[in-house]
Amino acid sequence: MNKATFVDIILPLALPQYYTYAVPFDQVDELAIGKRVIVQFGKQKMYAAIIQKIHREKPAEFLPKLIESIIDEEPILSIREIKLWEWIASYYMCTVGEVMNAALPASLKLSSDSTLVWHPEFEGSFHHLKDKEYILAEALSLQKKISWSEIQKILDKKYVYPEVRSLIKQGIALILEELNEKYKPKVESFVTLHEFYQDKENLKVLFNELSKAKKQIDVLMHYISLAHGKHKLQKSILVKASSDNSSVNRLIDKDILIETKEEVSRLTKADIESLKNDALNAEQAEALIQIQAHFKNDRVTLLQGVTGSGKTHIYFKLMDEALAKNKQVLLLIPEISLTVQLIQRLQKVFGHKVGVYHSKYNSSERVEIWNKVLHREYEIVVGARSALFLPFQELGLVIVDEEHDSSYKQSDPSPRYQARDCSIVLASLHKANVLLASATPSLDSARNAELDKFAKVMLHERFGQTPLPLVHLIDMKIIHETKQFDSHYSFELLNQIKAVVAQKEQVILFQNRRGFSQYLLCTTCGWIPKCHQCDVSLTYHKYADYLACHYCGFKTKNKTKCVACGSQTLSIKGFGTEKVEDELNALFPGVRIDRLDLDAIKGKHGHEKIIDKFENHEVDILVGTQMVTKGLDFSNVTMVGVLNADQLLCYPDYRATERAFQLMVQVSGRAGRKAKRGNVFIQTSQVSNAIFDFVKTHDYASFYAHEIFNRKQFYYPPFCRLIHIQVKHKEVDIVNRAAADLTQLIKLTTKHNMVLGPTQPSVSKIKNLYIRDILCKIEKGNIDLAGIKLKLKEAIETLHLIKEYKSVFIKIDVDPQ
Ligand code: ADP
Ligand code: ZN
Ligand code: ZN
Repeated sequence: MNKATFVDIILPLALPQYYTYAVPFDQVDELAIGKRVIVQFGKQKMYAAIIQKIHREKPAEFLPKLIESIIDEEPILSIREIKLWEWIASYYMCTVGEVMNAALPASLKLSSDSTLVWHPEFEGSFHHLKDKEYILAEALSLQKKISWSEIQKILDKKYVYPEVRSLIKQGIALILEELNEKYKPKVESFVTLHEFYQDKENLKVLFNELSKAKKQIDVLMHYISLAHGKHKLQKSILVKASSDNSSVNRLIDKDILIETKEEVSRLTKADIESLKNDALNAEQAEALIQIQAHFKNDRVTLLQGVTGSGKTHIYFKLMDEALAKNKQVLLLIPEISLTVQLIQRLQKVFGHKVGVYHSKYNSSERVEIWNKVLHREYEIVVGARSALFLPFQELGLVIVDEEHDSSYKQSDPSPRYQARDCSIVLASLHKANVLLASATPSLDSARNAELDKFAKVMLHERFGQTPLPLVHLIDMKIIHETKQFDSHYSFELLNQIKAVVAQKEQVILFQNRRGFSQYLLCTTCGWIPKCHQCDVSLTYHKYADYLACHYCGFKTKNKTKCVACGSQTLSIKGFGTEKVEDELNALFPGVRIDRLDLDAIKGKHGHEKIIDKFENHEVDILVGTQMVTKGLDFSNVTMVGVLNADQLLCYPDYRATERAFQLMVQVSGRAGRKAKRGNVFIQTSQVSNAIFDFVKTHDYASFYAHEIFNRKQFYYPPFCRLIHIQVKHKEVDIVNRAAADLTQLIKLTTKHNMVLGPTQPSVSKIKNLYIRDILCKIEKGNIDLAGIKLKLKEAIETLHLIKEYKSVFIKIDVDPQ
């Protein structure tokens, strides 16, 4: 007798294991790893889960439930993606379900929390439907929106997915994950001239007949000139060109123009002018040869090239090669929106093979990209960290641009993964090559190169031999003593800006706003508006005139009176980019100033517009945060100013020096990229800090030697591994005791390793939860890392066994950034 078939499935939930379900006989043939199935989990809920394993081992301890149905006709991912999820779950101490949640676009994750909605574009009838489907369709056409449990009631049965699936397939219904994230193909109207009138003679007759309808003739003329030869034209284009919607519709009514609806891609295909890949210069060509040699030996390669050395040109050559071998390419870049220029260049060289995976894309667009990678319509994907999870078929090359960038690490929510590190695992699953590139490599990667775990290739010169900019320090101590300043700006800096702008050149000013944005202060009593849920002051946003908490998102109207003493002496303190923009406007009347930071790209106008305006020299001075330090290439910028380097250096984090160095070098790299040498002015009161010597000489090697010495001295990565544990609870007593007890438990179970804490973090309360920190320093080298992580988990489980700690929330961050 045939044995029953079972599947082990991954649910998109934080569950510690896989679950086994039985498969009805009639569905066994359809099974495949990587397909989604609908299952019931818990009392009521339905989920779309991924098949991870198909087998015939009947579980001994329980009777498995049946799966309800199989969703996909073909797998949406392969065992390789599942292996990557498993690796991430085990390394970053989370569950595979949590990784699945991060990996899949929302529309692929339907559950019984989902709602079924009427497809707004469905126009047909549904008399042909089967009974139950008909009932559901009718209910939906009236109610427009029905929850899963209502469907179960309406159909009077538990397993309703077959009917739901059928309606979705026929375009009658949609699953609504979140209100604005329905997956439906985008449909557009086209018009075509009736075949009869495509004959010249008939057309002539038509024009005669229409001689009284001048407007319709006009529309037809537009149609003929726009559609030339191709006949089919987007209706919207015709309406726009003729600015006459009703005449267009009249022609459609008369069957002169035939209207058709077609599915179009949501992903706008920019008009792609094609561009040849540039030839490499001698140094680049030599670097390419070295990289190729390392790739032959399957070595992860670190490309360290100064800003402007043409690293992207080397990427392009490597991509060419991968494509020639019929392999796919993944290019990871930090914050995708920050490198518009790079994406445009890629599309010009590689055309429609390039897909972009954007954090701003909605779920439908992401599903479309997902499918195009799966079906190899996209051979090159450029994306931010989550592009790692796309279902590549045959990956040949992974490039991580600006590999030092901290945005590769997801800090919240779980999985708290580092995409650069995961990309090496991904590549090994595909036997693909990996190139990590940066002008200022992370200390971790540089250390790996030093230990020969990575191969290393250098580019020393800027393309076209433009010299690196001159770096000048402005000693703010002296400036203050001699009163040579106006607000936050030394006269020296102001004079330099004036001179550069007078020469019709452009300036970038960098102001790190972290912790230094604006807040209100009552000058009478010292009161500062604080968040009622978090231990931080509220940030003042002048543009929209409100106060906001940057930790929990709480917003409130701006205050005009002090809440504590009632006086109206509230003054704005701090020094954010918005304020800089304002002050500069006052200092330089007539000079065009713009701002690039998170608020500006959300509020005023998009990121691309700000960049475009600056590039077209419609703006003289661009003030910005980190955003201005990355990947931008403006030919006319000859001066960069760092307004306050001190706050970069005093950040309480073992990586502060590394970050400060990377930031200053990167932002300096924006100066003088084409013909002319640039100048960088850094305002600081710590001129004797060694880091400035390295920045001035663009000397990464000395910076590395200096910093690696400190890390060794104080036993920090790359000499050990860190696991950061946060204990949170709404009662301060409980959090204190739980944190102390957990620290003890960890010390007992993981000997040999250093456990620090508990400590109170600088922001010790967020969203009404008190926070305590525990830091584990784990030795590197030949140790059983997985074993230690297991022990940590056990310690946490033990803690949760104690009654009063049941609701204590524990967050684990492996390799925190
Ligand atoms: P990086 O990424 O190393 O900072 P880019 O790749 O952005 O440097 O190159 C810097 C500038 O030099 C860009 O304007 C680029 O177009 C130009 N460039 C670099 N290499 C070449 C080359 N081989 N041919 C033509 N232009 C190049
Ligand atoms: Zn007051
Ligand atoms: Zn808050």
